[in-house]
Amino acid sequence: MAALNLARLIAVAADTIAAHAEELTALDQAIGDGDHGLNMKRGFEAVRAEADAFAAKPLPDALKAIGTKLVMTVGGASGPLFGTLFMALGKEIAADPDRNNLAAAFGKAIEAVAARGKSQIGQKTMLDVLQPVHDALVGGKTAAEIADIADDAAEATVPMKALRGRASFLGERSIGHMDAGARSTALLVRSVGQAIGESA
Ligand code: ADP
Ligand code: MG
Repeated sequence: MAALNLARLIAVAADTIAAHAEELTALDQAIGDGDHGLNMKRGFEAVRAEADAFAAKPLPDALKAIGTKLVMTVGGASGPLFGTLFMALGKEIAADPDRNNLAAAFGKAIEAVAARGKSQIGQKTMLDVLQPVHDALVGGKTAAEIADIADDAAEATVPMKALRGRASFLGERSIGHMDAGARSTALLVRSVGQAIGESA
């Protein structure tokens, strides 16, 4: 696997989240409280502000530190969940991961998110993007294919009924809208693919 330029990856992810903050807010306004765009932007700008310090660390430590920063800055339900994702990924990943290690570490990180959120696939959350991305990683798909799979998976949350998070309070009325956290997850997946592609 191509060496990862973490500083570049953070910049691409923060740019992408900033460019889509209003879209994420609008999605969360429809079936939540409308803070997801701002939450994510605040968190990823905080990570960007310390990108050089993160990038100077070995990858596992960098991911754990990024996760901690996200927990402290994103807020809402998604902050602890994205934070858990990155912290667990940091715990499991090798300093110089190959695809097998990345896929295995990502699988463990998804399990940690599911445990933290008491959630599972099919409940209209970020897990509905994370799990297909993991499957695509295991299945040997390219970064571009995985980014498209993530977009499709976010799209596939539209007809779902939310069973976790604020959107679940709406019951049937949550049907017909994309889950905001699924969308932000797909944006992050595309950012990773883009940053890895550049350094390939
Ligand atoms: P809040 O819901 O507290 O306002 P955000 O708007 O930042 O927090 O994040 C909402 C997103 O978090 C949802 O769109 C969903 O993807 C994700 N989410 C919420 N609760 C859970 C959960 N229990 N498990 C997994 N993901 C969840
Ligand atoms: Mg919200």
